[in-house]
Amino acid sequence: MKFGGTSVANGNKLKHVAELVKSYRDRGDQVAVITSALGGITDTILAAANDAVREGKVSQVKEFIADITKKHHMAVHDAVSEEFAEEVISELDARIEEIEKALTGICYLGELTPRSIDYLSSYGERLAAPILSASIRTLGVESQSFTGGGIGIITDDNYGAAHPLDSTYSAVGEHISPLIENTIPVITGFIGESEQGIITTLGRGGSDFTASIVGAAVGADEIWLWKEVHGIMTTDPKLVPEARPLPVISYIEAMEMSFFGAKVLHPKAIEPAIRQGIPVRVKNTFDPEYPGTLVVKDEKTSHNIVKAVTVVDKVALINISGAGMVGTIGVAARAFSALANAGVNIKMISQGSSEANLSTVVDESHMKMAVRALKKEFKNGVVGEIEHDVNISVVAVVGAGMAGTTGVAGRVFGALGENGVNVIMISQGSSQHNISFVVKKDTAAKAVQVLHKELGLEKL
Ligand code: ADP
Ligand code: ASP
Ligand code: MG
Repeated sequence: MKFGGTSVANGNKLKHVAELVKSYRDRGDQVAVITSALGGITDTILAAANDAVREGKVSQVKEFIADITKKHHMAVHDAVSEEFAEEVISELDARIEEIEKALTGICYLGELTPRSIDYLSSYGERLAAPILSASIRTLGVESQSFTGGGIGIITDDNYGAAHPLDSTYSAVGEHISPLIENTIPVITGFIGESEQGIITTLGRGGSDFTASIVGAAVGADEIWLWKEVHGIMTTDPKLVPEARPLPVISYIEAMEMSFFGAKVLHPKAIEPAIRQGIPVRVKNTFDPEYPGTLVVKDEKTSHNIVKAVTVVDKVALINISGAGMVGTIGVAARAFSALANAGVNIKMISQGSSEANLSTVVDESHMKMAVRALKKEFKNGVVGEIEHDVNISVVAVVGAGMAGTTGVAGRVFGALGENGVNVIMISQGSSQHNISFVVKKDTAAKAVQVLHKELGLEKL
């Protein structure tokens, strides 16, 4: 069971989570808990690190430290009995002192590396886990807290988006399986360790991924992700209030949704579950009786062809064009090799049949790198122009039932046209599990709203 930041936002919520976990334990389930940082803490740590590197003010670090100390002490006060409070407070204070040292160092050095960003942002979870564990102990249930690295989540050193090594699964299994009968392990989400023992993170929202890694490693019956929503919904309820929770979806649909921007799931969270065929459930911490969404291998029960509409922000469109490209063999191969060698993550590809242009969508943070790599690759002709645009979003319509069903694309683009949403680029993978397209950023919300209605998703 993984609890997201909103679920563990403060002492009262932590206490509620501890009670919830205990209730499953009381029913005879063996539970391992993965926790996120207290809501908003990762963001505030990152903001403090950026302030430190930019402004170098030690006085500001002290203010931040006072603030973060107060928040966590209050959470202990509300969620942990006196019997355990002192021990937890001294553990937290030792960790907070490490944050202070690191931030002060950054003030003096004026340097913030990907490695130090991971080190600092790991503290959100490292402060949360001891509190939640003590809160469970407060209810009279054995519990112990662990870090990701401590239980064997060993990753590559790709800071900010580290990936676990294959050995992780057996190591985590060996650590956790023997414990779980007698105690409830509370494990930090989001973080691992490199082989050199340096802290890494799995990417923002990575606690979902941790939960799935641990679930797969111990051969769990189910992996439950507890959030503030009623499950995976037909679209982001913040964009469309009529969005509905989906009772059941397939692994592929959940993966496509997360790849295409549904922030409810970390994009890698399904991958470990698939390894072992473990069902994943997304549930609402604040309405635990509600069944939520079940994510399974095959989903045949739903009649709905389209399940969801998603939107990806922070992406950029790169267009390479030129008459010289027509009929010239190898342009696409050269473009993609150049992008791959530069470490650019490509989200979408489209080439018109005239062959005079090739469009790709990449992460916004990779845009400069991508343009540089393409300019270098094609400096001697063939490609005339390399243009880019960050003022775009990708919208995707997802549903495994679209494979082999006619008319979905017609409805999608017809509705967008009627509502004045201009489509800049279109792509459909040959798997036909999604149709994705690029629109101007300021029309993305409208596109989602129009499609949610057109595809009848509010009636699911
Ligand atoms: P966690 O507490 O686990 O970190 P998140 O905040 O990552 O949970 O996920 C829940 C948020 O995701 C919601 O606040 C919701 O606005 C957003 N969201 C975006 N797309 C969807 C979707 N399709 N279904 C449910 N929630 C979505
Ligand atoms: N605390 C991390 C984040 O805010 C990881 C997570 O919550 O899943 O991104
Ligand atoms: Mg999340």
